[in-house]
Amino acid sequence: MKRLLLAILLSTGLGLVAPCTAAAFQSSYQPATPSAAQPFTGALDSHPTVALTFDDLPAAGSLPQGQNRSKILTTLAAELKTVHLEGTYGFVNAVKLENDPDAQQALRIWVDAGMNIGSHTWSHMSLTGNTAEAFEHEIALNEPALAQYAGARDWHWFRYPFLWEGDTLEKRHAVRAYLKDHGYRVAQVSLDFEDYAWNDAYARCSAKADSEAIAWLKQSYLDTAADYIRLGREEEHIAFGHEIPNVMLLHATAFTTLMLPNLVEQLRKEGFGFAALADVEQDPAYAQDPDAALKYGGTLPDQFMDSRHLPYPPFKPKPFDKLKSLCW
Ligand SMILES: [Zn+2]
Repeated sequence: MKRLLLAILLSTGLGLVAPCTAAAFQSSYQPATPSAAQPFTGALDSHPTVALTFDDLPAAGSLPQGQNRSKILTTLAAELKTVHLEGTYGFVNAVKLENDPDAQQALRIWVDAGMNIGSHTWSHMSLTGNTAEAFEHEIALNEPALAQYAGARDWHWFRYPFLWEGDTLEKRHAVRAYLKDHGYRVAQVSLDFEDYAWNDAYARCSAKADSEAIAWLKQSYLDTAADYIRLGREEEHIAFGHEIPNVMLLHATAFTTLMLPNLVEQLRKEGFGFAALADVEQDPAYAQDPDAALKYGGTLPDQFMDSRHLPYPPFKPKPFDKLKSLCW
């Protein structure tokens, strides 16, 4: 599966500071070739593990009426504390702090609530669309803000924007070496359902008080999460021979903040327990490197599937067309 955001960002002129969410509706996975899809026939584990992580702090996606970044991160941190997930990592683009007191206050609230921060580059830069040197410059540029907000806490975790780790092996190797030399660990992802893609539709539908549309948004968000969590776990069986402790990619949007209690409840019903990012990424699977040039990157299981040409199990497309057309 491939994330196609870069081509969209460049073709629409949204530029390099656009967050994942700016291109939500144009993004999509390329579906696996149906003839190549092979149903997974094994059994999923009864008690999987997941670390939740949040990208694009302190400002992900458009704001529904009456919301601001401080309110969103206050609520998100409180929800995480309720389920004993202090220390959850949020990955920061420090450009969003510039001249924005609300964003600055939001990030301070997140850290003061006991949550952690890591790097997502200064401006959400695409490694596919830029040189390794430019990308490394953006990692360095992000550091003063991370050090300022995190204080003595460990901020040396790195999440690649768009999950794109290099479209050439030279870039991939150069940036990995840079990260290692500068003390970073890569915050790999195993589960991703592109949660950000629901947010802007929610902002529009809430402005119209369209309760029927909002009910559909909530149900389709949870249904898509369930489908793609199952798919990610099936990929792990195919790629690694067994399930691994998981890292889920979420975004600090208003809608994911609204839905988090329901998502946590759904995960618990599926048998999931929660763990810290550092503990999960100690699993030997996360030390494996597909070592492939991948234009559109992906989760770690995706990268193994794509680089080894392993057939994906069948999966439903996400409802991007409806999300794009709702509540105008
Ligand atoms: Zn991002």
